[in-house]
Amino acid sequence: MAYFLDVILPLPLERYFSYSLSDADAQAIKSGMRVAVPFGKSKLYTGIAVGVRENIEVAYEIKDIEFVIDQEPILQEGQIRFWEWIASYYMCSVGQVMKAALPKSLLLESETIILRNEETTAVDDELTDSEFLIIEALENRKALKVEDVMGILDRKTVLPILKGLLEKDLVFIQEELYNTYKAKTEKYIQLSQEYADEEVLRELLDSLTRAPKQRQAIMTLFMMRAGNRLVKSKDLETRAGVSRAVIKSLVEKSILLETEQEVSRMLMDVESGNELYVLNDSQEKALAEIKTSFENDKTVLLHGVTSSGKTEIYVRLIQEMLEQGKQCLYLLPEIALTTQLISRLQYFFKHQVLVFHSKYSLNERQEVWSLVLEAKEPYVVIGARSALLLPFRNLGLVIVDEEHETSFKQFDPAPRYHARDTAIVLGKLKNSKVLLGSATPALETYYNTTIGKFDLVELKHRYGNVLMPEINMIDIKEKHRKKRMTHHFSDSLIDHMNHAFDQGDQVILFQNRRGFAPIMECNTCGHAPQCPNCDVSLTVHQHRYQMRCHYCGYHTIIPLACMACSSSDVDTKGFGTEQIEVEFKELFPSRKIARMDLDTTRGKYSYEKLIDQVESREVDCLVGTQMLTKGLDFRHVSLVGVLNADAMLNFPDFRAHERCFQLLTQVAGRAGRTEKRGLVLLQSYNPDHRILQQVSTYDYSTMFTEQLEDRYQFKYPPYQRLIRITFKHRDYNTTLQAGQWFVNALNQIEHGVEVLGPEFPPVSRIRNLYHVHALVKMGKKHHPETIKGFISKVRRSFESIKQFRAVRCNIDVDCY
Ligand code: ADP
Ligand code: ZN
Ligand code: ZN
Repeated sequence: MAYFLDVILPLPLERYFSYSLSDADAQAIKSGMRVAVPFGKSKLYTGIAVGVRENIEVAYEIKDIEFVIDQEPILQEGQIRFWEWIASYYMCSVGQVMKAALPKSLLLESETIILRNEETTAVDDELTDSEFLIIEALENRKALKVEDVMGILDRKTVLPILKGLLEKDLVFIQEELYNTYKAKTEKYIQLSQEYADEEVLRELLDSLTRAPKQRQAIMTLFMMRAGNRLVKSKDLETRAGVSRAVIKSLVEKSILLETEQEVSRMLMDVESGNELYVLNDSQEKALAEIKTSFENDKTVLLHGVTSSGKTEIYVRLIQEMLEQGKQCLYLLPEIALTTQLISRLQYFFKHQVLVFHSKYSLNERQEVWSLVLEAKEPYVVIGARSALLLPFRNLGLVIVDEEHETSFKQFDPAPRYHARDTAIVLGKLKNSKVLLGSATPALETYYNTTIGKFDLVELKHRYGNVLMPEINMIDIKEKHRKKRMTHHFSDSLIDHMNHAFDQGDQVILFQNRRGFAPIMECNTCGHAPQCPNCDVSLTVHQHRYQMRCHYCGYHTIIPLACMACSSSDVDTKGFGTEQIEVEFKELFPSRKIARMDLDTTRGKYSYEKLIDQVESREVDCLVGTQMLTKGLDFRHVSLVGVLNADAMLNFPDFRAHERCFQLLTQVAGRAGRTEKRGLVLLQSYNPDHRILQQVSTYDYSTMFTEQLEDRYQFKYPPYQRLIRITFKHRDYNTTLQAGQWFVNALNQIEHGVEVLGPEFPPVSRIRNLYHVHALVKMGKKHHPETIKGFISKVRRSFESIKQFRAVRCNIDVDCY
């Protein structure tokens, strides 16, 4: 009997690829196991087995699989079906979803590397000639790529030979193929048995009087060991205040004994407790309403003002699920995954909290993957968007906090999925409850509550009945006229800042632009330095004395004179967080300020450090971009100042007003979270703008009604669905023609939907590639599957056109 295996490859292929299987492999293999398979001329890939069948009809030559990697599936039942849904809805390949889902350490990339297994010896007469050549080469070169092997043997089919070497255990194929996962170990230290006797120990200490450091180390260890606990070498170093060398010399003298033990990366020492907070009446009521809706299998939107205590409600729901032995998923925007929140959850749920975060290492992510897969215990996984793709079993609850955040939408590469919407689908597949939470719900989400698709639960007051901060508008046009501005600060803002500082409070300043100034311009000839790769001007970063491109990272030093006319009369236009920092230092020389933006938060813990600085009140003021708006909970911030509220209103984007409302409401929500009512000052040139008025009166509902009306008028979501097709190429004309061809081809089909474009977006060239957009708008009466089918069909023809071969074509369903 012949057997064939359908395999998902980590590539943008429309279908699964089939391979032939030996009888033994066909018996052993299960859907969801990894297999190593050849693809293309000489490449090996890790694929996922979908299923075995006995007959096949394909137009390509069927190859054998190389070998089966796993003994057990690494996916959960139904997970491939979920991937298939994502691929079909977001118009990409299942392989692309797989690539996004699996931690990199579970995937073999094409540049396979072969290594010599040092633990075995090769017996020459047991080797074939080819094998001998490879082993010989490996003695000299340590590592070879598959390509190198082809060169050495001067042939293309080298996989059987490599397989032979693998079976003889003489080589490894790039460790990653099996596992790059390494358990984390920790060194522990103890006193040698012979010093257990106090008398002997005393003699030892006496003999060490001339080595005070070593003596100190032993005494400290003696004290630390009091509770009979194992002592970590590192802890001993810190507690005794000695260096690693001191410990090492004691180990060498066999006075101390050091052992290495495997520890879980996830089982951190955390402060823990069991007592949940007592919910107040509104929280109790909201919790009860949520549960009722869950019983009716409804997705719930929890619309609770900032600091109303949504998190405590989540904690309750999670606790109940864990007690029933069910898993929970708690999704947050990447940046809101702060230690503040993680420790709050760990306080209750201890090691049952698993964190899945892009700043964590591959090993840490693989450990979460394995723990979730094995599900020996119920866990609550707290993570950013991709945590959705973990191998969940028995998933009881999915929470999407800050559900309005646009960063839930994956932009590049495919799958371009929206984590909130995909979470709802996952909930359906897994029969789990889904709760969305926000103080400023996305228009689409709130709309769904008005048409009965979701249930709405509200929390209208802050926890502890603290009043919502008072929001005042400051007309900076007026202030400029009356000469009451110092740099970008109005007199009122300065007065209130001084007042706050005098009270011992902290201040948050918001300016949604990083760097010093977005433009540098010559006053003589008007020249402004542009990025050589992108169609944007370079941002001045005075701090590092650079001009930087925010699209491609290009940077250069700040020129002393205009590069076009050599005039030294150059000026900056606009302002960013760096400039505010500089001005602050001038205006408040005795106060400390910290800056939170992309430039100051690149390192693994830099974001945490900034938060610590604010919490421990090392700084009086925090200036930052929209990062500030992501769920931070500081206790001593009484004033929030927005330096220019207009900047966000003028984007050419149908969501600009909604987003401005959300950002400003969220940043305002950082003020006065504990006892005293906070104050927010919004500086603006258009204080009468309706969005700013709605922000200052906390009028979500008017904002909602008005924006919804606009969306209806101009045919945008939630009334229409959007699919954006982007074309990218080095050449201006080719890009435009590609877009034109696509739109024409699509319009030749009787589809009845509106197709806009092709047109160049505001930034039309990035990293030397021109961008052209086409937008497909589908109304309620259209069947999205049908339209997507047409688009796919056109894409297939498009890809076969020679002239457009080098044009990249991305499809973004429900684009942002
Ligand atoms: P939200 O997520 O709605 O912005 P949080 O859940 O962060 O609000 O709650 C705001 C503050 O109120 C937090 O400092 C939190 O510890 C506190 N809080 C909320 N609910 C309770 C409660 N039931 N008992 C004590 N403190 C609470
Ligand atoms: Zn000039
Ligand atoms: Zn650039």
